[in-house]
Amino acid sequence: MDIVTGKNLIKYYKSFKALDSVSFFIRQGECFSFLGSNGAGKTTLMSMIYGFISPSSGEIKVFGKSLNKKNLPEIKQKIGVIPQDNNLDPDLSVLENLIVYARYFNIRKKEAIERAKELLNFVSLQEWSDMNVRKLSGGMKRKLTFIRGLINDPELLILDEPTTGLDPRSRKQIWDRIEILKHSGKTIVLTTHYMEEAEKLCDRIAIMNKGQILVIDTPENLSFKFSGNLEKVYLNMTEE
Ligand code: ATP
Repeated sequence: MDIVTGKNLIKYYKSFKALDSVSFFIRQGECFSFLGSNGAGKTTLMSMIYGFISPSSGEIKVFGKSLNKKNLPEIKQKIGVIPQDNNLDPDLSVLENLIVYARYFNIRKKEAIERAKELLNFVSLQEWSDMNVRKLSGGMKRKLTFIRGLINDPELLILDEPTTGLDPRSRKQIWDRIEILKHSGKTIVLTTHYMEEAEKLCDRIAIMNKGQILVIDTPENLSFKFSGNLEKVYLNMTEE
């Protein structure tokens, strides 16, 4: 079953075409990556998948349903979003950030606390639970933003550049957790600039450039088809 399908998606910001007839599908349980340079349209596409912005034309379906006003609340209950920026509440503690977020999903406080504690353990942040988020390092903030997106136990996880700016150890820690989530059956969509990240985690990769998808395939097929490693393929395809 396909969890996300996009057909001929076009997005204009005023007269600027940010997405130019993009089509793709993402299967259940798959890890799918949009790989592309700055401004390729990755965030625009991700925001469309969770209903934050609408296409100018074309059709997008999530869990087989159109993202209209009627369907959106039900669809959002099953999606976890990890945005590019760590938009945490700076006035709250680590635990409070998770509990407040759980309210958007109508999760009762007792259940939210239990779930938040489990998630803090999942990324080894349990000892920082009562700390104000301002005091966390960049890597810790990223981990907190990551687990915040898991508070509703989503079926579909949307990760916008999950490891940008992280040191190699923190990056590896996030990669390990993404692999665990993948093996637990979640469908994962991520954007990245890192070839290694897409290659390591994802079943299929869409290479994007200037609002278009140039190719979609497995990392192995991409390397094979273009007789080179993925980095070479990417650099060749996205050349100015
Ligand atoms: P990055 O890797 O830098 O995050 P991206 O691939 O996610 O880039 P988008 O953020 O989707 O790219 O942006 C695609 C294009 O659309 C860029 O040229 C960007 O400047 C433009 N754009 C994005 N959002 C808006 C907006 N709200 N108004 C006008 N232009 C926008």
